[in-house]
Amino acid sequence: MRIPVVLLGATGSVGQRMAFLLSRHPWFDLKILAASERSAGKNYEEAVRWALPEELPVKIREQPVMSCDPTQKPSLVFSALDSSVAGPIEEDWARRGHFVVSNAKNHRMDSYTPLVVPEVNPGHLESLKCQCYGSGAIVTNPNCVVSGIALALKPLIDAFGLESLHTVTMQALSGAGLPGVSAIEALGNVIPYISGEEEKIEEELQKIWGKWDGSCFLPHGVSITAQCNRVPVVDGHLASLYFRLSDDPCEKDLKKVLSGFQQPLYLDALPTAPEKPLYYFDHPGFPQPRLHKNLGEGMSVSIGALRKTGKGLFQCLVLSHNTVRGAAGAALLNAELCVTKGWVQSCES
Ligand code: NAP
Repeated sequence: MRIPVVLLGATGSVGQRMAFLLSRHPWFDLKILAASERSAGKNYEEAVRWALPEELPVKIREQPVMSCDPTQKPSLVFSALDSSVAGPIEEDWARRGHFVVSNAKNHRMDSYTPLVVPEVNPGHLESLKCQCYGSGAIVTNPNCVVSGIALALKPLIDAFGLESLHTVTMQALSGAGLPGVSAIEALGNVIPYISGEEEKIEEELQKIWGKWDGSCFLPHGVSITAQCNRVPVVDGHLASLYFRLSDDPCEKDLKKVLSGFQQPLYLDALPTAPEKPLYYFDHPGFPQPRLHKNLGEGMSVSIGALRKTGKGLFQCLVLSHNTVRGAAGAALLNAELCVTKGWVQSCES
């Protein structure tokens, strides 16, 4: 039997990607599409400005869009709400006993809210035991550029330790939501500022790479700085990374670790888990958004242009699909993990 689900923020950039993926998901049955009062009462086709290259699925076209007021059922709720409203709406659903899987930034850094990349820190879900939403819960996935970096550097952290990281990002327009950046600002241009993004990268990576010790999250402790740019690319965030490892391996050692990274066994049966979470390219000009963003149906992260620049010092490029691995797909994979680990069920009972 498929699990009925609600989608909040169904009309936005991430929401429509989620609606598309949920419409053909083998475990989840999209029962309720919800958005703002502007959209409520319309059918989905009227309310959404469909911007995906895939056709709007027939089975959700005629579905009515509801407001985001909590209903009694279903208990599993996905949120792709704008962060200006997500905080209290998600809390409201959680307090009424729903299991909320959120894309929004609002609860990511809360003391007992897991910020999960399933390949990296599944153990952080244990913090759900300390949440104060009664039988409800909130689980979050990271900022769109953080997901890719967190996954790409994880095998290197495990093998060699990480002392410091500086990243310069080149982020796609779809990351700004809908309607997003205006054409006159975006075309033929690079916008060297994305509000709040640099801070999010710095703090979220610390939490994801850190530990849950049974009562609180201990940040990783690596020193991180970031500088973010919006570039005229539709989908796919590229990040240039400069990092210092604790050990001093040679370039060949890193290549071996990165190309040998396997999908963890506990993700094997999950429908959204890519067969190969990390693609290593032994090529100075790869990865590129147009060529590689859709690897693993947008769930694989690519790494390439690796170069040793000094003792323990390296640089490389990391690419991830911002609305799939960085948002909709990440939320689905988190929900699938929570279902297999029994968290969703325990929330329902
Ligand atoms: P978006 O395109 O602006 O969509 C926002 C959604 O929120 C729409 O469905 C909108 O409904 C709804 N909404 C706005 N005000 C509301 C209200 N007062 N009550 C109820 N619903 C309301 O944003 P997005 O880019 O999809 O991002 C969604 C969330 O995911 C954000 O929190 C964002 O930070 C996060 N995120 C985005 C990305 C990305 O790559 N875009 C990646 C990771 C995380 P209407 O259409 O009815 O206005």
